[in-house]
Amino acid sequence: MAKYGEIALKGLNKRVFEEILVKNIKKSLRGLGEFGYSRMQSTLYITPLGAADLDGAVDRLTKVFGLGAVQRCVKLPKDFSVIVKEGIPYLENSLRRAATFKVEAKRSDKRFPMTSPDIQRELGGEILKAYPRLKVDVREPDATVLLEIRDDGAYLNPERLKGAGGIPVGSSGSALLLLSGGIDSPVAGYMSAKRGVKINALHFQSPPYTSERALMKAEALAGKLTEYCVGVRFICVNFTEIQESAKKRCPEEYLTVILRRLMMRAANALCAEYGCGAIITGESLGQVASQTLSAIACTDKAAEFPVFRPLIGMDKIEIVDLARKIGTFETSSLPYEDCCTIFAPKRPKTKPRVSDAEKIEAAFGYGALIEKAVNERTVKDF
Ligand code: ATP
Ligand code: MG
Repeated sequence: MAKYGEIALKGLNKRVFEEILVKNIKKSLRGLGEFGYSRMQSTLYITPLGAADLDGAVDRLTKVFGLGAVQRCVKLPKDFSVIVKEGIPYLENSLRRAATFKVEAKRSDKRFPMTSPDIQRELGGEILKAYPRLKVDVREPDATVLLEIRDDGAYLNPERLKGAGGIPVGSSGSALLLLSGGIDSPVAGYMSAKRGVKINALHFQSPPYTSERALMKAEALAGKLTEYCVGVRFICVNFTEIQESAKKRCPEEYLTVILRRLMMRAANALCAEYGCGAIITGESLGQVASQTLSAIACTDKAAEFPVFRPLIGMDKIEIVDLARKIGTFETSSLPYEDCCTIFAPKRPKTKPRVSDAEKIEAAFGYGALIEKAVNERTVKDF
């Protein structure tokens, strides 16, 4: 049972969100077996139609944005003695580690002869008989056993897993994530996808300053993100010529911010081309010299789309925790060279001025270089 999160509260356009959610679920369960789908109120029933990898399916479902909870359950006939006989052994796994439990019953099929309190009492008694070491605790049980009597059967499930939350990927349109090989930008991608954004990831490489390995690392991160992002388009742009040219022509202290402005210009072109409504970065205020308020303001002036920085208020420790949770931390921690660090001046200006940046840029023709780099991009779909 996949239970809707926030979209359960949507009004007239709930259907639109639902359709995207179901499409995303089907895509994420690909390769794990055949499943049947049926909807009732704010619950989607996903039933294996034959052999299927159910552990894998549950794991993937907990990564689908838009779901508030995922409940693995067994469907039984609506006959209390059968529920006891076939259902109780099914609880073994989740009750093994518990000292206390409670039963919660919901009866939407009012023709079922027992009331919810009856079911709770009787089923609780049968569980105590089967597992005599357990105790009932209705306030803070270690395990909660749920039984839902619905029109089409009795659904027994021992645990409710937390869903990924958020809203379905795609329901907020698309955005272009500037994806380095670092820790921050994949997390920024995850957070944007959580709010319904479909991710196109733009990576700048600078061979021979950056290695093939650095590119593979960024690709691996895009691949990892697909678990949450339901498919990621990876776009790689060669930044070498632009960087070399900027290094020759810019005062050293302005190089960092100018390079970031040039990244934004390449991003502008790709946003237009791929129908992206925003640019996303992994910046966090004050983390490094290019992430001061002045530097961010100066960078933004070069962007033609809203720039989202979902990590803006987060500490590095919080970002790392999230990176671990979503499984990108290990890959991000591999040693790599980033195009930004290689060309980083010793003392970047922490309070760059837009007017100065504009003057410097006017002195060298970056337009053609950006156009060429963008035209020569490579694209891979994950
Ligand atoms: P990250 O951990 O994401 O690399 P960072 O803390 O290293 O971030 P910077 O190197 O200043 O910070 O980069 C800031 C942001 O600029 C990144 O989060 C990312 O969105 C973008 N960025 C940096 N380098 C690249 C790159 N090579 N390709 C694409 N985007 C990049
Ligand atoms: Mg970085």
